[in-house]
Amino acid sequence: MSTGPRYWAVIPAAGVGRRMGTSVPKQYLDLAGRPVIAWSLGLFLDHPHIAGVCVALDLEDGFWPRMACADHPRVRRVDGGSERCHSVLNALDRLAQEADAADWVLVHDAARPCLRRDDLDRLLAAVPDQPVGGLLGVPVRDTMKQATADGTIGRTVPRDGLWHAFTPQAFRLDLLRRALRAALARDRLVTDDAAAVELLGLEPVLVEGHADNIKITRPEDLPLADFYLRQEGRLGGG
Ligand code: C5P
Repeated sequence: MSTGPRYWAVIPAAGVGRRMGTSVPKQYLDLAGRPVIAWSLGLFLDHPHIAGVCVALDLEDGFWPRMACADHPRVRRVDGGSERCHSVLNALDRLAQEADAADWVLVHDAARPCLRRDDLDRLLAAVPDQPVGGLLGVPVRDTMKQATADGTIGRTVPRDGLWHAFTPQAFRLDLLRRALRAALARDRLVTDDAAAVELLGLEPVLVEGHADNIKITRPEDLPLADFYLRQEGRLGGG
């Protein structure tokens, strides 16, 4: 292929999904006939520009070995950590054994099965021109309230310029490794990758995607994700 930087995907999938209230972790729940993670990961495996995918899994994950993609030659697995940021860093350390420091890494939550191919392509088209990297997101539409400890409204937060941060989040391998290590050294358990990069004083770019790139969090999210996949005609083969 080309001699430029390559693109890799990291799929953090080591969460237990407490808010779903199910015994099966949310990434393995059935969504339109396939486990949630099969949708999230499949989009990257099917993409011709993704060199490989590294999945971070819980140490006691007994579901992964049963997945069809577990033995895929472009899939690597690592153990996850106690928080998402630890899981991502483990995967980056694994990728560093074969990827170049300047290669791009796209970190995508296993729990986001509805990512559209055109949103992924838009991010892939945007980042090469970016000095820092970027992520998919959507501007906030609702009025935002800051709650007090007793559940009343402390203040209304102006929504101008506020975005929901989604994944994938794309950064150069070396930058994101440094950023996550630095954040952890400061005991900052960042909940997304951009936050670690921001702590270095850098400004990732926001790339507008579609609001249907939801993260499966609560039971009602599964039928919604099913609806979105059908809407996009992605259930073709059954
Ligand atoms: O819990 P939450 O939905 O924010 O997790 C986002 C993603 O990070 C999920 O795909 C989850 O499996 C993953 N995760 C992880 N390691 C953890 C916690 C979450 O890989 N320790």
